[in-house]
Amino acid sequence: MDTTPITSGLRGAPTVDSRPQGSDPINGQKPSEDCAVVGFKGKINAYNPIITALRTLQHRGQESAGMAVFDGKKVTLKKGSGLVTDVFNPATDDIKGYVGVGHTRYSTAGSKNVVNAGPFVMNSSFGYITISHNGEIVNADELRDSMKKEGITFQSDSDTEVMLAELSRNISKYGLKRGFEQSMESLRGAYACAISINDRLYAVRDPNGIRPLVIGKNNDGYIVASESCAIDALEGTLIKNIEPGEVVEISDEGIRTIVSKSANRIAHCMFEYVYFSRPDSVIDGINVYAARVNMGRILAKESPVEADIVVPVPDSGRSQAIGYSMESGMPYTEGLIKNRYSERTFIMPTQSDRKAAIHLKLNPIREVIGGKKVVLVDDSIVRGNTMRFIVGLMRKYGAKEIHVRIGSPHIIAPCYFGVDMKTKDQFIARGKTDEEINREIGADSLAFLSVDGLKQAISMKNNNLCLGCLTGEYPIDISKKLAENITSY
Ligand code: SF4
Repeated sequence: MDTTPITSGLRGAPTVDSRPQGSDPINGQKPSEDCAVVGFKGKINAYNPIITALRTLQHRGQESAGMAVFDGKKVTLKKGSGLVTDVFNPATDDIKGYVGVGHTRYSTAGSKNVVNAGPFVMNSSFGYITISHNGEIVNADELRDSMKKEGITFQSDSDTEVMLAELSRNISKYGLKRGFEQSMESLRGAYACAISINDRLYAVRDPNGIRPLVIGKNNDGYIVASESCAIDALEGTLIKNIEPGEVVEISDEGIRTIVSKSANRIAHCMFEYVYFSRPDSVIDGINVYAARVNMGRILAKESPVEADIVVPVPDSGRSQAIGYSMESGMPYTEGLIKNRYSERTFIMPTQSDRKAAIHLKLNPIREVIGGKKVVLVDDSIVRGNTMRFIVGLMRKYGAKEIHVRIGSPHIIAPCYFGVDMKTKDQFIARGKTDEEINREIGADSLAFLSVDGLKQAISMKNNNLCLGCLTGEYPIDISKKLAENITSY
């Protein structure tokens, strides 16, 4: 393959067991974001726009970063472990070309080895093809096994490499349009991708539209990105969401849709609105901040409580807490301060180490919460350990009462579509009443937003949402084998 070797970005990289844990304060108690994808095609070098877009989307994955840029003759690929700024150095990087794709990763399929980091590149019979993928292919193992029997070899255990191989062989066999269509039939799962084929850029979204993808334009060219905030950061204008099952081609002639193949059931991930996406992004026409404030408002209507102040768990509960405060009339107050310079938390072996780590990240303001009845708002609860520690800490700092309000419904089932929630046992809410959960976290009361309340807050047309981890009902058939494998980890 005529690409540069996988290079650098490895200094100071976390090991497999000491990876950074996303934007959650403690040990990844929040579900981890999946990945960010970006693509650029324009009249300037793609390197800088891709770096800017990836840095804007860093919240979607901090495990690795990479880009692949085509200069008319060859693809230059660079990827490594760590943040975008760990991997790339504009002073020394020599990456040039007018079309390219970029990726940040949090692994949900495939091991954490850097060989699984995106993007992937192949020198095929029709030229160079590169791919950055957000999501998870549920039948990747079956496809890999069958391709191996045909003599195709793989360098990684990533589902993205399987996608690339499938796409490449289908385009070789059937041509571009039919090749994409055929691949959409064979690849099951969630995928939002930026793909380049020689000097053309493609934005591709799975037929259910599970993970988000947008396209925009600035004075320098076209931008494909997981979230619209990346287009804002490049001073661009949002053109449109890539529709479920759509393939958009961006060439020197402009943009055009070459495939339109949506499923009967459109299912945008509700967690993009609850937690993953940035509040300044617009996902499938809905502003994330507005949706979160609505969640807080509806939560206040569904589960009111008499208290003195509304305090968010920073940063994840902030928008929902603002909504709760607006609706209830109780003042919104910052009662927990987050240490912004302690971004990386490592897995802590003992309970007391974990408590110390939480305290390093979050410290209550005694003068704010002391003697007060507090409504403590967070966006979601997965395991509940962090919430238990926070409640304990707030009691220690003098809070008179703590009423926990969660701005999304109970998470009770795994995600198979690119989110790091794989085992049923990890969910505190599974099989328990709210009273039982409340006893575990030690609050005075606990309430979750209802599923209907969530739908109302997001206000997605026809309720086209994936609610799989809330209901156990998924938009894509999950093979029994996969479900058994995942839940028995
Ligand atoms: S199962 Fe949950 S986290 Fe996964 S895509 Fe569906 S809504 Fe999102």
